[in-house]
Amino acid sequence: MKKRFLAVLTAVLLLLSLASCGGAKTVLLLDREGNAFAEYDGGLTVYEKQNAAYARYALTEAAERLAEPRGGDAEKGLALLARGGGEIRTAADPALMAAAAETDELYFADRGVPFALAVTDENARLAAVYSSSGETEPHYAGSAIKPLSVYAPGVESGAILWSATQEDSPVKQVMTPAGEEDWPVNGSGRYSYQQIPAAEALAQSLNTVAVKWLQRYGVTNAMDFLENSFGIDVSREREIAAQLSEDEVLANLALGYLQSGVTVCGMAGYYRVFADEGVYTPPLCVLSVVSGSGKQLYAAAPEPRQVLSPASAWVMNRMLKGVVDHGTGTAARIEGVDIVGKTGTSDGFDDNWFVGVTPRHTVAVWHGPSPAEGNRAAAAFNAFFHAAALPWDDAFTPCEEVTQAVYCTESGFRAGDNCPGVELGYYPADRVPALCPLH
Ligand SMILES: [Zn+2]
Repeated sequence: MKKRFLAVLTAVLLLLSLASCGGAKTVLLLDREGNAFAEYDGGLTVYEKQNAAYARYALTEAAERLAEPRGGDAEKGLALLARGGGEIRTAADPALMAAAAETDELYFADRGVPFALAVTDENARLAAVYSSSGETEPHYAGSAIKPLSVYAPGVESGAILWSATQEDSPVKQVMTPAGEEDWPVNGSGRYSYQQIPAAEALAQSLNTVAVKWLQRYGVTNAMDFLENSFGIDVSREREIAAQLSEDEVLANLALGYLQSGVTVCGMAGYYRVFADEGVYTPPLCVLSVVSGSGKQLYAAAPEPRQVLSPASAWVMNRMLKGVVDHGTGTAARIEGVDIVGKTGTSDGFDDNWFVGVTPRHTVAVWHGPSPAEGNRAAAAFNAFFHAAALPWDDAFTPCEEVTQAVYCTESGFRAGDNCPGVELGYYPADRVPALCPLH
């Protein structure tokens, strides 16, 4: 008996000595105000549940960044962190994190609906990452992919002009268990069989027109754009297109069924191009990592790259304004605030998105199935904006290389005196359409 007691005592003493010299040390995760919100000592402890997703994301990012120059992976980085102790300084904004938790309480938590949100600030840093599950797993983007995969690269290439039209009608017939059916189906379940200007088709999120523009712009071009601009994984789509046909990945690219999915953190980064004059900066949580002895082990260096011209980015910005002003995203609208964005919904309302862009912040909102309530992401964005008290008085800076012109809604050409219906469009200065030939 005495022998066993001694053995236990020895083990305890050994553990204590390990902890004090050379064992696992504590790494504090600090928010942008310098306050600790979590710690890592081989295991992650988060002080408040609302910060769980941010803490996990930041810890993984720090571990990867530390291990990278040493040729290791996240696991090696975690071992380095636990050995050295110290601090991971992050861009987490405690006010925005609290506002995310408040939005969850208000809209989703009571109903058991999964909810996630990420915010990038004007430096493209992740100011908030929130998830009710604590994870930031990928989901189908639904129509929230359209600006990235079809409209932005289409505008950039010159294939899409604000008022250039496509007919809102089925692209093809597909075989289903119920027989031959029209494809794709619009959110409304109807086709207007009218010629619809590109900006209006995006505002109303017409699937027919998005698929037609994708075909015009080119499936391979769209895959190249997503991969080269944003590092979005389209390897599965490339395989399917090569083995079967490009037709088989129209839905993946135009309607948001990319096999790899997208995350709220990813979307909060990609959509910044519409606020940042076409510049994409991969969003980061971690600002720096400092060891227990005060040595700086890593400092973030943003890597901005121009993926759209400023003119294309501004045309897209104004198109996405139409979504919020009179399209599918009106629930996000706040009088007097310059908000642009896009909704997205996958089949059966499994994934529901709104990505909202203001001059300073980009907010990606996702929620899971919400029985009988449809997509509430734009409304949740609106609630988050108020809870976070985001700035009201900012405005986007117009691009001087973009011209406004009145166009004929029937032909999509520049309106003359006799055109029966006219609207205002935005065009790169060298691409304003010719005078309407119909009227
Ligand atoms: Zn006309």
